Amino acid sequence: MFPFDYIRPASVTEAIAAHGQGEEPRYLAGGQSLLGALKLRLAAPSTLIDLARLAELRGIRRDGACWVVGAGITHAEMAVGVEIPALAALAGSIGDLQVRNMGTLGGALANNDPAGDHAAGALGLGAEIRTDRRVIPADNFFLGMFETALEPDEVIVEVSYPLPCRAGYAKLRNPASGYPVVGVFVAQTGGEAGVRVAVTGAGACVFRLPEFEAALEREFSPAALAGLSVPAGDLNRDLHATAEYRAHLIGVLAGRAVAAS
Ligand SMILES: Cc1cc2nc3c(=O)[nH]c(=O)nc-3n(C[C@H](O)[C@H](O)[C@H](O)COP(=O)(O)OP(=O)(O)OC[C@H]3O[C@@H](n4cnc5c(N)ncnc54)[C@H](O)[C@@H]3O)c2cc1C
Repeated sequence: MFPFDYIRPASVTEAIAAHGQGEEPRYLAGGQSLLGALKLRLAAPSTLIDLARLAELRGIRRDGACWVVGAGITHAEMAVGVEIPALAALAGSIGDLQVRNMGTLGGALANNDPAGDHAAGALGLGAEIRTDRRVIPADNFFLGMFETALEPDEVIVEVSYPLPCRAGYAKLRNPASGYPVVGVFVAQTGGEAGVRVAVTGAGACVFRLPEFEAALEREFSPAALAGLSVPAGDLNRDLHATAEYRAHLIGVLAGRAVAAS
C-alpha cells in the first residue's frame, strides 16, 4: 500500500470541500473494494475521505411508493431493512458476513463492478440515484466497466427504489466470492416503466434485455421466455464461465427470477 492521508469529515459538504483540496483524493465507504485495490497497488490516492459514519447517508425509509436507502447503508442492513423482498434477498446474497457488514450501497453503485449485485437491483427496479447535486436515473448511471455518470467529487446520498408489483432476483453465485457469475433482476413495475429485466456479470456493466421485457409484458411467467436467447457475442468470458455458458445462464436465471417474484 502507498501512504495516504485520512480525513473523517462531519458532513457531505465537508467531504466535498476536502475532495477539492486533495491531489488525488478518493471517498472511502466500507472499503470492501477500495482497500483491496490499494493493497494491490491498483489505486494510489493521496487522501482517503471517509464517508462511512455520515448521518446524512444513513437513512432508510418508506417514502410514498418508494423505498429510499441511504448510500451509507450496508448490505446487511439493507437485507433486513427494505420491504422489497427481491432487493433484500439480493443484498443478503452479497459476499460473506464481513463484506455485508462493511460494504455499502453507495460504494457498490459508485464502484460499478461488472458483476455487482446492486447494479442489477437499481437498474431492474428503475431506481433514482440521488447525489449531493442531482438525481440520476439508473438508466443513465452505469456507463461501462467501473465507470458511472458520477463526477469525481460527487457523492451518492441516497437511492430511491419504486415499489414494484412483483420482482425477483436469481444469480449463479461464484462459490469463492459470492459475486454473480451472472445475475438477473426482473421487475413488473405496474407503472409506465412496465417490465424491466437487468443482467449483471455478463457484460462490461449491467444492461437491460428489451426482448425479454417485451415477452414478459405480454405474459409475466417463465413460460413467456421460452424460445428467447441472448447471443454470446460480446458477453464476458473468463476462467469462471465461457460467453456461451453466460448466454445460457441469462435465459435460465431470467426464468428463475420471474418464478421467484
Ligand atoms: C470477498 C468479497 C466478496 C464480495 N462479494 C460481492 C458480491 O457477491 N456481490 C457484490 O455485488 N459485491 C461483492 N463485493 C464487493 C462489495 O459489495 C463492496 O462492498 C462494494 O463493491 C463496495 O462498497 P464499499 O462501501 O466497500 O465501498 P468502498 O470500497 O469504500 O468504495 C468503492 C468505491 O466507491 C466510491 N464511493 C463509496 N461511497 C461513495 C458515495 N457515497 N458516493 C460516491 N462514491 C462513493 C469510493 O470512492 C470507491 O471508488 C465483494 C467484496 C469482497 C471483498
